[in-house]
Amino acid sequence: MKHTRHNDTSAHMPVTRIAPSPTGTLHIGTARAALFNYLFARCHGGKFILRFEDTDRERSEKLYEEDILTALQWLSLTPDIVVRQSDRKAVYQRHIQRLLTAGKAYLSKEPSKKDPAQEVEVVRFRNTSPVISFTDTVRGAITVDIGDLGDFVLARSVDDPLYHLAAVVDDMEMGVTHILRGDDHIINTPRQIALLEALGGTRPSYTHLPLIHSPSGGKLSKRKDATAVTAFRDLGYLPEAIVNAIALMGWSPKRDDEVFSLEELVATFSLSGIQKKEAVFNEKKLLWFQKQHLQRLSEYRLRKEVLPSLVERFPVRSRLQPRSVKTVLHAVREKGAPLAEERLLIAGGVYDFYFTEPTYATQLLLPPKSDMSPKDLPSAVLSGLWKTYALLRQMSAYTGWDEGHIQQQVWSHAEQQGKSLILWPLRVALSGQDKSPGPFLIAQAIGKRQTMRRIQRACALLEGIL
Ligand code: GLU
Repeated sequence: MKHTRHNDTSAHMPVTRIAPSPTGTLHIGTARAALFNYLFARCHGGKFILRFEDTDRERSEKLYEEDILTALQWLSLTPDIVVRQSDRKAVYQRHIQRLLTAGKAYLSKEPSKKDPAQEVEVVRFRNTSPVISFTDTVRGAITVDIGDLGDFVLARSVDDPLYHLAAVVDDMEMGVTHILRGDDHIINTPRQIALLEALGGTRPSYTHLPLIHSPSGGKLSKRKDATAVTAFRDLGYLPEAIVNAIALMGWSPKRDDEVFSLEELVATFSLSGIQKKEAVFNEKKLLWFQKQHLQRLSEYRLRKEVLPSLVERFPVRSRLQPRSVKTVLHAVREKGAPLAEERLLIAGGVYDFYFTEPTYATQLLLPPKSDMSPKDLPSAVLSGLWKTYALLRQMSAYTGWDEGHIQQQVWSHAEQQGKSLILWPLRVALSGQDKSPGPFLIAQAIGKRQTMRRIQRACALLEGIL
């Protein structure tokens, strides 16, 4: 193959498609092809088709069709048209007949591949002009001699087409102008062009996308690597994060910033940004995009993602104080983890202290790193906490009960007595945990009344061990 770099051709109302076989779930590779086809169609006001290549009836399953369509919709890559090859048998038959009538294909009686004792009548292509040249957007001019393919088989019988014939007929009939697909199909392109010419179709533009490699090296594998889009959805990745991550697998923008929404991608995408070099699927990078897009997520969407788990944990609505809910949402946004992780934390009670009084062992109130003797520590903690209580009581519950003011109110007391002696017990009194957000944030979230109650309770517990 000879390679020369070729520039973008400007497109007029393009028609693009992806053509997955419904023999498995939508994986990252096909999702990337879908995204590029979607972007190209959208940025030129064209159409994007989803075509199920389900001519292999034994391996095709409805369940996978549903998975593929649902996953595409979830990513907002909704196709304009959805077709199924099994519904188009008559179309293929008509074109096979045309080829036979024109002498461009012929029937051939030969032993069956499955059972050589049986004779079948296959349709073979008359391969007369075997040198095919075409231009691939990424790889440039390519010339291939397909002579050694011989008269390849087009259909198992007149009404049972094989992949190449069905794909070429469909691309032609559906007016596909741009084919963007994985590099592994570059080998199929010359014979599909020969077939298209025999059928009298117009040649589309070809763009073969670099393969996606797994971080451990080698081609990304459906079996070895976690690649199903719906699996990422179930882990709580945002569709925006996935779209952003796959956009940069094989395409590079002309700007330095890597964070894109789908709309921004539509506005920026161009075929000239597609690279030859293979792309790498990197889960760490996906996690980074999750964080970026969680920061940008609307409050409404974040609520929709997180609130059901809180409602499940606290079915009594009155427990879900708006300020506490807001604080949890903020924490989730800041952490930037996949949301299923956060749902598990909520279900496991990690955020409970925002909504109910925590229970904990009294010993937890004693700061672990104190130079005070164990004998003196409980009473020192107790008097410090009482003083904190007195200081906070002076504050208004309505004006100025926020993180900054609360901190200001107790700060010099903490500095005088020692921060860990004052702030550790205060934090444990409010959260019941040895690790939690800072006490001022919790106090702000749960409100003054709860804060005072919890400190009082902690003091009572300490009195019990004096
Ligand atoms: N069924 C093929 C695939 O999923 C489609 C090839 C093509 O896009 O032409 O890889």
